[in-house]
Amino acid sequence: MQAQEVVALVRQTCRVLSSERVPLESALGRVLREPVCALEDHPAFDRSAVDGYAIRLDDPGTRFEVVDEIRAGDWKPRSLRPGQSVRIGTGGAIPCEGLQVAMKEDVALEGSAIRLVRREAERNIRFRGADARQGQVLVEAGAVLQPGALALLASAGHTRPLVTRLPRVVHATTGNELVPPDQTPSQGRIRDCNSALVRTFLGLRGIPVEQSRLPEDEPAVRDAMGPVADHADLLLTSGGASVGDHDFTRRLLEELGYAILVSKTRTRPGKPLIVATRGDALAMELPGNPLAHFVCLNLFVRAALDALAGRPAEPLFARGVLGAAIDGDANARETFWPARCRQEGPAASLTPLRWLNSGDITSLATANGLIRVPGGSGRIPAGAEVDFVRAAATA
Ligand code: AMP
Ligand code: MG
Repeated sequence: MQAQEVVALVRQTCRVLSSERVPLESALGRVLREPVCALEDHPAFDRSAVDGYAIRLDDPGTRFEVVDEIRAGDWKPRSLRPGQSVRIGTGGAIPCEGLQVAMKEDVALEGSAIRLVRREAERNIRFRGADARQGQVLVEAGAVLQPGALALLASAGHTRPLVTRLPRVVHATTGNELVPPDQTPSQGRIRDCNSALVRTFLGLRGIPVEQSRLPEDEPAVRDAMGPVADHADLLLTSGGASVGDHDFTRRLLEELGYAILVSKTRTRPGKPLIVATRGDALAMELPGNPLAHFVCLNLFVRAALDALAGRPAEPLFARGVLGAAIDGDANARETFWPARCRQEGPAASLTPLRWLNSGDITSLATANGLIRVPGGSGRIPAGAEVDFVRAAATA
């Protein structure tokens, strides 16, 4: 299967998770599940847009006695007579109808009075309801809540938005060769780096992940995995997905009652991917190579997380221009090539990074995109327009 087909299948398979109310602090990046409406007009009262002096619109004079002061937060309704003004701060409540606010910059102080040096037509008032009317939808259902939307919810008094709950994600590594990253591997062993990749990838979405390491012999694995998998919406394993004698994760999934949906892809790196389902739960067995992890996380795990969260589907690929040629060596399989992408004007510019096989990981230092090299492509010249996937990243 091509990447796009796997993504479509994953999307179709995942059911949107249930929803919950959370405080604003926990709502960043979550999908809003009901429209949020204004409980009152915004602004809720006429407010001054500037620091200045409120005067009557129908008063043609140039000298005004200052009879009161209104600061932001004060509530002092009152009328003004011709020749009178009220000093008012930005955000201060306009005391009555029929006024305008002369900007401080347009006024000269003369003892307890002001003289208008310049009279603008602009009233400098933010009128009640000008931004939104009571009952109006402020944020649509399905929106992914960003800081701006959260500020709007806060302003409108919606402090516990209804959002999709986070998925429960379990991740297990396999492989006797692995040691934790803070240890020095003995001969023949390597440090586990996929755990850090998976944890931080999910962390970008605020999703905690329960991580463990699977024992290598099968009965022990079953005992270890059974209870953990039971409460997982998404079960991820690293390695062991191919056909070696010790690659048992496919059997394990079947024994745990998962039905295999995808047992390999045509993507490179990332071919021995397994996708399986059990009820509403999804399992993905990611090929052990870190670069394959990077590809599978950004293509397939992302698709699952989006679908579980109820995010609107977006096109998988963006278009960009190659900054340097790719020697695709006519590989029969669709390849995802690590790249550095930069937005330059309307087009993204893509610099392919060096890698020879999926065990090479130094490109991960700067990769923030994956160029799609269709199967059978030979050399793709610099300047060619290509599909690419933006890798998940912090802002
Ligand atoms: P596997 O999918 O188990 O055949 O693993 C493929 C390659 O990825 C092997 O070279 C493994 O040593 C390596 N690998 C597997 N798991 C990890 C991991 N957690 N961190 C780094 N490399 C890994
Ligand atoms: Mg292995």
